[in-house]
Amino acid sequence: MSISSNLKNIQTNIPKHVTLVAVSKTKPISAIQEAYDAGQRVFGENKIQEMAEKHEALPKDIQWHMIGHLQSNKVKYMAGFVDLIHGVDKFSTLKEINKQALKHNRTINCLLQVKIAQEDSKFGFNQQEVIDLLNSDDFKTLENINITGLMGMASFTENNDQVSNEFNGLDLFYNQIKEQFSFTTLSMGMSGDYPLAIENGSTMIRVGSAIFGHRH
Ligand SMILES: *Cc1c(COP(=O)(O)O)cnc(C)c1O
Repeated sequence: MSISSNLKNIQTNIPKHVTLVAVSKTKPISAIQEAYDAGQRVFGENKIQEMAEKHEALPKDIQWHMIGHLQSNKVKYMAGFVDLIHGVDKFSTLKEINKQALKHNRTINCLLQVKIAQEDSKFGFNQQEVIDLLNSDDFKTLENINITGLMGMASFTENNDQVSNEFNGLDLFYNQIKEQFSFTTLSMGMSGDYPLAIENGSTMIRVGSAIFGHRH
């Protein structure tokens, strides 16, 4: 299967309101260019420097999403161009993003990562922490940040009921608070679980290997 036919398969099988982020981490420029030529414009990377290099080399109408865990000291390398940061899980990171966004005279869109998996290794806030953060005075001083929604990663398991339950829990929470905070985006679902994520309310899926093949 080619990159363009993989993309087409996914695009025709997901609803129109769901945005496909093509996760191109570790993949060469040529692979991204191939997806671009097939019409894809939204790409996700998990390392800031790799994303910055790819941004330099590729067409400027690509929307770059940072989906990985963030190191604050590297935020500056993407602040001028990043379109959406998915995985914010600390207030201090938001402060750094705000500072760098201000330097570039722009507002940076972010999603708060919520921990939904049972595994200890997954990062993220719990629901109360999200609400406390969004209502805090400290948060309201961050004028160059726009929190547009939530992101979650389900447990890595074959148990579809568990994965479904985890996605559903985040969807319920998202719908409780989305009006109050003007949210537009619920980012959940990867190659192995995006159909379940969409069934459970996802509006944005992050798909890598199902488009580009396995990573080495
Ligand atoms: C790598 C990655 C993906 C894509 O994973 P695939 O299984 O290749 O689709 C999605 N989200 C995050 C946060 C990732 O790190």
